[in-house]
Amino acid sequence: MGLMQKSDGRATVESVYECISHVCDPEIPTVSIVDLGMVEKVTVTDRQIVVVLIPTFVGCPAQPIIARDVRQTLAAQYADYAIEVRFALTVAWTSARITEAGRQALQACGIAPPGRAFGDVACPVCHDTKPVLHNLFGSTSCRSLYYCRQCRNPFEAFKP
Ligand SMILES: [Zn+2]
Repeated sequence: MGLMQKSDGRATVESVYECISHVCDPEIPTVSIVDLGMVEKVTVTDRQIVVVLIPTFVGCPAQPIIARDVRQTLAAQYADYAIEVRFALTVAWTSARITEAGRQALQACGIAPPGRAFGDVACPVCHDTKPVLHNLFGSTSCRSLYYCRQCRNPFEAFKP
């Protein structure tokens, strides 16, 4: 956090987005929650900041950690504000919410960005589009384990 500037302590919607763009999914430390499309809404009023997040996958164990990190990051930056972080219950996260930067970062760390439909997955190494589903559950419940017949690499992919 050394490079993060201490502002004058006044929050705007833009500055809150900037601030929480440093928070990552602990399972994918190279991709911010903003690039994952997890931030549904930021509201800033006189003395309160409200951040509404969308869970990427119901029951993903990382979610309480992400909410805590967002709260702590904002609390460190905006001492004068009451901070509320909650998950949207009515909005569904879809892989279409991932930004282009987010998709590239996922690809760069060897995780296939989610396809548009289930089974629509390309190998992050050779881009072959006919990998074999090896295990529905990868290292986390949000991902599946695939095996590429073309380049013989196993890889993980987000569930769509
Ligand atoms: Zn491959």
